[in-house]
Amino acid sequence: MTDCLFCKIVSGEIPCHKIYEDKNCLAFLDINPVNLGHTLIVPKQHSKNILDINDKILREVIIVVKQLSNKIKKNLQCDGINIMINNESDAGQIILHTHIHIIPRFKKDGFKHWPSKKYKDGEAESFVKKIIEF
Ligand code: 5GP
Ligand code: ZN
Repeated sequence: MTDCLFCKIVSGEIPCHKIYEDKNCLAFLDINPVNLGHTLIVPKQHSKNILDINDKILREVIIVVKQLSNKIKKNLQCDGINIMINNESDAGQIILHTHIHIIPRFKKDGFKHWPSKKYKDGEAESFVKKIIEF
């Protein structure tokens, strides 16, 4: 894709702080980290997000996510890791090229979990039906 920021990072047209590269994926530091060391992993082949990525590429990328997460946890001595994917603009996806966030977390970093809702009587069952129907 000619007008995609992450395709331009993959091709080297735009610089990045590279963490890892192989045939199918590239990992680099997020330019505005949630915590220092926040890393993005992108497939080299353009796809918009997890909803349309090629399955074979996804398998390879997710294994790299696991390996890098362990490396980040060990080497940055963080207490935990958030692995996050935003899919579609309304879910917070700003860059429309599949990317997986690895965010190092620390006991005292102060971030809170998302707000949560409750199911009313019968609602959980109806959502199961809705989700699995095709
Ligand atoms: P999204 O909201 O699409 O899941 O996240 C996009 C991420 O890309 C953001 O965390 C943002 O800081 C990061 N980002 C945006 N532009 C650049 C850039 O030019 N270089 C790097 N390394 N990261 C970027
Ligand atoms: Zn792209």
